[in-house]
Amino acid sequence: MKSNPAIVWLRQDFRILRNEALSFATNNHANVSAIYIFKKKKFDNKREAQKWWIYESLKNFKFDLEKYNVNLEIASYNTYQDFFEKYSKKNLSFYWNKIYEPDYINFDRKISKFLKNKNISYKIFKGNILNEYQEVTKKDNTPFKVFTHFWNTAEPIYIKKEFRKKISLKKSLKKIKILETSNKLETILPKKKWFKKFHNYWTPSEKKGLEILNKFVENQIMNYGENRDIPGVFGTSRISPYLANGQINVETAWDVCENIKSKSRGYRKYINELGWREFSHSLINYFPSMLKGNLRKEFDNFPWVKNNQHLIAWKKGFTGYPIVDAGMRELNETGWMHNRVRMITGSFLVKHLRIHWMEGEKYFRNCLLDFNEANNVSGWQWVAGCGADAAPYFRIFNPVLQGEKFDKDGEYVKKWVPELKNSPIKFIHKPWEMTKEIQESYKILIGIDYPKPIVNHANARQEALKAFSKIKK
Ligand SMILES: Cc1cc2nc3c(=O)[nH]c(=O)nc-3n(C[C@H](O)[C@H](O)[C@H](O)COP(=O)(O)OP(=O)(O)OC[C@H]3O[C@@H](n4cnc5c(N)ncnc54)[C@H](O)[C@@H]3O)c2cc1C
Repeated sequence: MKSNPAIVWLRQDFRILRNEALSFATNNHANVSAIYIFKKKKFDNKREAQKWWIYESLKNFKFDLEKYNVNLEIASYNTYQDFFEKYSKKNLSFYWNKIYEPDYINFDRKISKFLKNKNISYKIFKGNILNEYQEVTKKDNTPFKVFTHFWNTAEPIYIKKEFRKKISLKKSLKKIKILETSNKLETILPKKKWFKKFHNYWTPSEKKGLEILNKFVENQIMNYGENRDIPGVFGTSRISPYLANGQINVETAWDVCENIKSKSRGYRKYINELGWREFSHSLINYFPSMLKGNLRKEFDNFPWVKNNQHLIAWKKGFTGYPIVDAGMRELNETGWMHNRVRMITGSFLVKHLRIHWMEGEKYFRNCLLDFNEANNVSGWQWVAGCGADAAPYFRIFNPVLQGEKFDKDGEYVKKWVPELKNSPIKFIHKPWEMTKEIQESYKILIGIDYPKPIVNHANARQEALKAFSKIKK
């Protein structure tokens, strides 16, 4: 046991279970402090919803850490480098887990050099992933761009890793304080109070995350294959914010699934989705330029449209297409949106409105509690057709048919677009088709109580295809 104090740099790993940096530090040092560095610039007007999640996570995690005599301190710096400049002292050791985003990986490289030069002890551990992205390549060592091929290689690699032990934490001798001043937690919260409703839907703690995961695997995973596309039912696990912020390690999710005795189609589908998460992380690390632009360069010539009115209508959920509006309103109120509806709303933005996918990416990043750089950018490029293994641009979702197929009884729309809750089911996904008399009898006046569609589907489709034909040449 080393007598010098250790710092565990908490980043996206608010968990006790399978937190390698924390386990290592507490098992090797008598005294440990966990430090979260809040980089305001990274979050302000960019990741507002996640500020609430982090605030709540820190509050809950502080309590969990106290059981191990580990203090949780909060620092606020413009850059991580500033923190290391100030606190890199010989008597301290530093530990943290990787985050598989190019900026973090680059920083880890840079700071490793810095710490080595100063002869300061540090260690970086595997992060929240099944395989390190460098472990999964084609035979010629190039990265995969097709999901099935990627996962056919990646899954067996992970399964073959026999020894994935869980190390438990050791109690520190006493609680120590490293920072001269620890910031107040409240400084992290967004200024605008729109996050207040998140409490109705989420509890950002490790305990809650594991409870949701276990319940889902026990009771719902067997129906995941059928229910995962129906936004009106609880058909998916909703663990994404817990994975994105590290309350759950994906290896734990994998293990819980593996413990099921009879493996259903639902199980298989679910494991595949964890595979998509791996795939996106691999993509952004091998092709970091996709964080700033199209992976498929021919899309650089796509004639995107700038239309602020349309963009605002989309963000607020007033496009006149009920399934699109329901999705955007679910996002605005809960900080989460169902995957099927992410695809529909995304497609509407980039195809019906022909607004650049990066506008959508930016908005989702700001509003999603589960924002994850890899999944978000890959999700958007998949929708726009400019990513790897993406939906072809010419396949244009019809929002009415999508609604009728995946929200047959209109439950989802009625929940999030209450103006339409009395609409006859026949019109729930195309309320503009109601005659004046029907509108009056149901008290839903189109253009007054609920907007007229901001674009006509058939025309928008033609325009999108025309625009696409320009980049094909
Ligand atoms: C435009 C767009 C943007 C997206 N942005 C994000 C994002 O910022 N963060 C995020 O975690 N996911 C994102 N996704 C992927 C997906 O929508 C969410 O992971 C999923 O809806 C989360 O809900 P769940 O936990 O109930 O998922 P489940 O269906 O229960 O799946 C379990 C887990 O598998 C992973 N997963 C599921 N679907 C996908 C997918 N298509 N791609 C990658 N991983 C997946 C997630 O980690 C998820 O928590 C995006 C998808 C699209 C189309």
